[in-house]
Amino acid sequence: AIFPDRTNSRGLNMNIEGLRTPFFQELARLADRQWQAGPVVGGKTLTQGSANTVVSPQDHHRQVGRVHFADQATVAQAVGRARAAFKGWRDTPVEQRARALEKLAELLEAHQAEFVSLCTREAGKLLQDGIDEVREAVDFCRYYANEGRKLMAEPTRLPGYTGELNLLHAQGRGPFVCISPWNFPLAIFLGQVAAALVTGNTVLAKPAEQTSLIAHLAVTLAHQAGIPAEVLQLLPGDGATVGAALTQDPHIAGVCFTGSTDTAQLINLTLAKRQGAIVPLIAETGGQNAMIVDSTALPEQVVRDVLRAAFQSAGQRCSALRVLYLQEDIAERVLEILRGAMKELSVDDPALCSTDVGPVIDQGARAGLEAHLARMKAEGKRIIAEAPMGNCCDKGFYVRPTALEIGSINELEKEQFGPILHVVRFKAKDIDKVIDDINGTGYGLTLGIHSRNESFADQVAKGINAGNIYINRDQIGAMVGVQPFGGQGLSGTGPKAGGPHYLSRFITEKTITNNT
Ligand code: NAP
Repeated sequence: AIFPDRTNSRGLNMNIEGLRTPFFQELARLADRQWQAGPVVGGKTLTQGSANTVVSPQDHHRQVGRVHFADQATVAQAVGRARAAFKGWRDTPVEQRARALEKLAELLEAHQAEFVSLCTREAGKLLQDGIDEVREAVDFCRYYANEGRKLMAEPTRLPGYTGELNLLHAQGRGPFVCISPWNFPLAIFLGQVAAALVTGNTVLAKPAEQTSLIAHLAVTLAHQAGIPAEVLQLLPGDGATVGAALTQDPHIAGVCFTGSTDTAQLINLTLAKRQGAIVPLIAETGGQNAMIVDSTALPEQVVRDVLRAAFQSAGQRCSALRVLYLQEDIAERVLEILRGAMKELSVDDPALCSTDVGPVIDQGARAGLEAHLARMKAEGKRIIAEAPMGNCCDKGFYVRPTALEIGSINELEKEQFGPILHVVRFKAKDIDKVIDDINGTGYGLTLGIHSRNESFADQVAKGINAGNIYINRDQIGAMVGVQPFGGQGLSGTGPKAGGPHYLSRFITEKTITNNT
């Protein structure tokens, strides 16, 4: 039996009336609240200069709040403070750092409704996605607190000659830059920050510009939880200004990045060219994720898992299914059920419990996805199914969930980060070509397999380069400490988030040999 040393949080069970009613009352109270955010440097929120208006992806006439962005002078000031604070935080016992993260987890749970409200309004997430977002952030805080203790509470004693004491110490590296995307605006944002903090680094956090309000609330609570002001600073702003200034700085000790492959490659280049020490880059990036279904699979189960993997969170998950490979013997049956099921999808206001698919993040994202659909149609690709659009879709950045047929994954130039599913039929004898084509993309994030034939599933799982492989289930929603998450090749450097080796990239090691 496997006994966990910590249990993941439960989130909020909306089936329990006594929990649901107060939660909805709280959401109603927060529905029109206007939020403010800005850089948090030395514990103070800076509000000088003009502020950017934040509008909701579900309705671009609805204002959520205002954000002041950092400029280069603010970045330099924050880096200076993070450097000055480093030694004190590095030498703070790991137990104290871990307890602050556990306190933060409690505060996140206490402020669940605010985060869910913000996730819905600022990021366009469904209520359940917002609840899951808080749950995952809580899990990251508690998991890394524990892993930090295991790694750093005591130095590792190593063998040596008689009279010689060899100790391997793990310690923080210095000011760590954490750059995160908008699609998990709390969980990924705080996961990176928690890992860097517990290992004794000071942190300069740059959230995605679309979700700065959520990041600001998270940092405010982290300070309340006992993380010193100078140890964690927030620098909202656009990537080209704030992200570039941070990654060019010669004094930073490492970068933890989650986002697109293109941006990761740019940061890699910036780090290589800049003055100063050679520092680690942890990059968790995009995917071109496939699911392979052979003729022994159960069609109803396949469709249930395809709907969740391709369309939940409007397809805006790095793990989301993009290309469904169906063996020809089962293809028609699966597509028939899929067509029926997609007609029943509710594309609507994310704040309604009945909504299955909400908006995409902004106008740029919608335009890119619509251009891709137009290109596919112009090339004569067959539309398999489209979901009906709800009444509110004209007001926001909605993209119609669509399934279309293509010849091979090679026809896709890049990741389409939205509710678009591509379907490819294959013959059983061509499975090696399918595996080669998928590996040929260079990505390697998630893979789904549906088959009752164990040797087929084994062959595919062994053959495809992917960081997370799921057999006979959907391929999204990796759980902290249960399914460590992260890709290979163009999909990321590792180590895996929420796994036992993640913290190792945030530390430096010192061997002390003492001839006692
Ligand atoms: P993105 O455009 O690459 O942005 C990610 C972050 O990088 C944002 O904070 C962005 O700032 C910043 N950035 C942009 N240019 C920069 C530069 N020159 N220097 C430093 N930082 C810069 O990605 P996204 O659109 O936010 O997120 C979606 C992508 O993330 C998808 O490809 C998805 O697959 C991937 N993702 C991967 C994982 C994983 O674990 N593998 C998880 C989630 C998402 P701005 O706010 O200005 O854009």
